[in-house]
Parts: sequence; C-alpha cells; structure tokens
Amino acid sequence: MQPTDPRTQIKHRLDSLVAAGVEFLPASSPVAIRSETLPETIPPPAALLHEPAPTSSTPPVDSRKSLALLANDVASCNKCPELFSTRTQTVFGVGNPTPEIVFVGEAPGGDEDRQGEPFVGKAGQLLNRIIEKAGLTRDEIYICNVLKCRPPNNRKPHADECRNCRPFLDRQIELLAPKVILCLGGVAANNLLGNTTGITKLRGQLYDYNGVPLVCTYHPSYLLRAEGTPDERKLKFECWDDVKLMLKQVGRTVPG
Ligand code: SF4
Repeated sequence: MQPTDPRTQIKHRLDSLVAAGVEFLPASSPVAIRSETLPETIPPPAALLHEPAPTSSTPPVDSRKSLALLANDVASCNKCPELFSTRTQTVFGVGNPTPEIVFVGEAPGGDEDRQGEPFVGKAGQLLNRIIEKAGLTRDEIYICNVLKCRPPNNRKPHADECRNCRPFLDRQIELLAPKVILCLGGVAANNLLGNTTGITKLRGQLYDYNGVPLVCTYHPSYLLRAEGTPDERKLKFECWDDVKLMLKQVGRTVPG
C-alpha cells in the first residue's frame, strides 16, 4: 500500500531513487528532496544531495541527469490507479548508466516492491547465476522492467498499464543507449517488439528495437517453475543459447 505518512513517502521515494542508481538530483527537482526540507527524523541519503566529482569512468553528466529526472518522474507517477495505490515504491532500474547490455523483465514482485530494485527475489538469484555464468556482473549491465510498479498479487500486467509505462521504458533505453537488449519473458518481448507471439517462438533469434539488437529468452521465474520437470534441462539450454547470442552482439567471449 502507498504509505500515507509523508515522511514515509519521502523516505520510500529517496530509497527508490538510490536503488535506481540516482546519485544526485538536478537543481530543477522539487525542493522537497533537499536535506533542509526533510523531516528531521529522516536522514537523507547523502549520495542524493550533491553531485559527485567526475572521474574518467563517470558517465556523461547529461545522461545521468536525464536518468535522475526520469526516475524522479516515475517515482511520482500515478497513471495506473491500482498500481499507484498498492505499490510500496516504484522500481525504476539498477546498474551501469552507460551499459553495453540492458536486461528488461516484466514487473516488480513483492521483494522488488519492498526493496525498490528489480530482480532481487528468487528469480533474481537465478538471474544472478546466469549473469555470472555469462562472465558479467550486475554492476556492468543495467536491469529494468516493462512496468515500474508491482501489480497486486503478482498478476500479469494489464495492456493499459504497459501502454502507460511504455514512454518511461522507451526513454530509459534511449538514455542508456545499450548495444544489445535481452528481454526476459514474453511480456517484455511482446511489449518491445509489438506482437503477441509466444516466447518459445520468439527466442533464439535477433530482432531490432529502434536500431538496437534485441534477443528474447525465458523469464527466470518460468525457468524456476520448470525445475524438477522433464522440460528443465531443455529450457535452461535454450536460455543459455540466447545468452550466448546476446554476448556475441557485444563481441564478448562466449563461455563454454
Ligand atoms: S506502472 Fe508505470 S505508468 Fe503505471 S503508475 Fe507505475 S510508473 Fe506510472
């Protein structure tokens, strides 16, 4: 449930922005985010209150500022009344703001809604193993979802909710400018490709999303549900083939 206490709302909003990788807020952001306007019982995340000194690995400020502004817009979005009234916080995305690879999933679940970060539950643990096997780390890629708010009881996102959230996703990917996108599951694949084809038919091939190569594979939750069934091995091998196809797009050595 969206907290009614303004102090809790501010804290969730700050936590959500920090989880989204926002390190500072542009000057044009609402002043309520500044330390002197916060209720004194809430220590503001220090990282949000100043702009870090640039380093050689610091991404372009405009891109980071734009992502910060976008995450701020998402945190105050109420376009989907049911999701707005039941979410704990928005889940914008996490990872490298200038990634080669972006993973796009479906929507936050309960753990993600509580922590403000995508893929932190059981499915996230399986995703972490896939990322590690691929020779990658969560810090070097970027992970987000089609929906930035949790659907109640983890139901499937409604079509109008996906439509409402789509401009945020499109802008997010535009700012991230990845070299390849990996869609995790049918909802992400159908949304970005604009079709209704099943994931088993979509996977294993390369697509184009606004000039960015796109690969589709199974959602980690689907792989978890297949564990202990006769399909488990086949599905996991197919997922691994998709990951290798994704890695090839960025010239990465494909692990054996
Ligand atoms: S799902 Fe997206 S469009 Fe809907 S309320 Fe959340 S942020 Fe807004």
